[in-house]
Amino acid sequence: MVRKILLYPDPVLETPCDPVDESELDTPELKKLVDDMFETMYEAKGVGLAAPQIGESKRLFVVDCSGGEDEAEKLVFINPEIVATNGEQVGEEGCLSIPGFRENVKRPYRVTARAWTPDGKVIEVEGEELLARAILHENDHLDGVLFLKHLSTLKREMIKRKIKALRKRGEWD
Ligand SMILES: [Zn+2]
Repeated sequence: MVRKILLYPDPVLETPCDPVDESELDTPELKKLVDDMFETMYEAKGVGLAAPQIGESKRLFVVDCSGGEDEAEKLVFINPEIVATNGEQVGEEGCLSIPGFRENVKRPYRVTARAWTPDGKVIEVEGEELLARAILHENDHLDGVLFLKHLSTLKREMIKRKIKALRKRGEWD
């Protein structure tokens, strides 16, 4: 089921999420939530989506840099931990909760993340370039951090002002 994506400044987006409890692993409820997240992400043409973006304040996100073209690139991260990062990259980044705004963000070039899968296995994923960027962006969401935080104060305030104006005109929902 495609779920509604919350938009900035919904407070859920800036609230740190709770860990997924071990008892939730390998349950139909968790599998359904993950399915909904992929469906919602593909519909919105994103490469990543975090649970708080659909109002579920849980430490869980999905990523697929192939946009649904390659089953092997469908990744689910539950209670993820970033275990290593290295290098540096600067590239355009956007967020499904802040549609229409894209800015250059500096991120590590490579990342290693450890997480649970929905059926309770532990995986370690190493990503570079876009995958590293997606993992780090989505992982930030679990701490209530949006990509705006990585911008200069000037850029961040400019975007916030524009969003305020859009909201006033009823063009932001
Ligand atoms: Zn985002």
